[in-house]
Amino acid sequence: MSGDAEAAFGAVADELRIRILRALWEADDPLSFSELRERVDVRDSGRFNYHLGKLRGRFVEQTDDGYDLRFAGSRLVGALYSGVFTEEASVGPVPVEGTCTSCGGALEASYEDERGRVDCTDCDVALLSGGVPPAFVDDREDDLATALDGYFRTMLREVRAGFCTQCSGPVAGRLKHDPDHGPRAVFKCERCGGTFRGTAAAVALDHAAVVAFYFEHGLDVRTVPIWEVDWLHDATYENDTAHVTVELDGDELDLVVDESLAVSTPERA
Ligand SMILES: [Zn+2]
Ligand SMILES: [Zn+2]
Repeated sequence: MSGDAEAAFGAVADELRIRILRALWEADDPLSFSELRERVDVRDSGRFNYHLGKLRGRFVEQTDDGYDLRFAGSRLVGALYSGVFTEEASVGPVPVEGTCTSCGGALEASYEDERGRVDCTDCDVALLSGGVPPAFVDDREDDLATALDGYFRTMLREVRAGFCTQCSGPVAGRLKHDPDHGPRAVFKCERCGGTFRGTAAAVALDHAAVVAFYFEHGLDVRTVPIWEVDWLHDATYENDTAHVTVELDGDELDLVVDESLAVSTPERA
């Protein structure tokens, strides 16, 4: 980031300007100068005009129909509503249906310090853990675990498709050998440098062969909670690739994850 970022943040570092952005967000159509001023509720027209001017260009555009938010303005208001800058929320721990695939212990879900997690209460295994904005827990207290499952699967799909979940920049994935935790999938953003980590097997979660294999056994893998997918933690590392076996009702499906995290199904010998 450069001085441009400083100038951009400087332009919105004002309570009245935030109110202008929110008023434009809430309006269905562009607003005229006087409509906008009325909604923001500022008497002093000169003062209002000064602050609106600071937003014009990058955050707000003036068209023939009136003032409207630009993409940057919408993103900023979205970030404000996510609560990530202003709120603190905490939920749980609440019990989660099912048991730990490592030890059979009871599970619990929690949200605190902008982190959502599903943990085993017995063996300290974090089955799911990551940063989540406070808006996430709105109306989701009752089924926190399912919501976290959906959230992390969506993030995984996003980085798998090559988009950084922080900045939307291009992401490259690679396989990394971790002697303590088994093979890992590491995604790194080429723009912001943000990294995302998961087990190597997790990249196969929505592979067509896996979806079909579950379907043949009467299951929809997309609705099986991540912490119940036991093979996610069982990959082995060999010849620069990760090897995973999915087992259902005594049938097996072999998967190979290569260095660039491409998934394939080798012919059985
Ligand atoms: Zn456990
Ligand atoms: Zn990024």
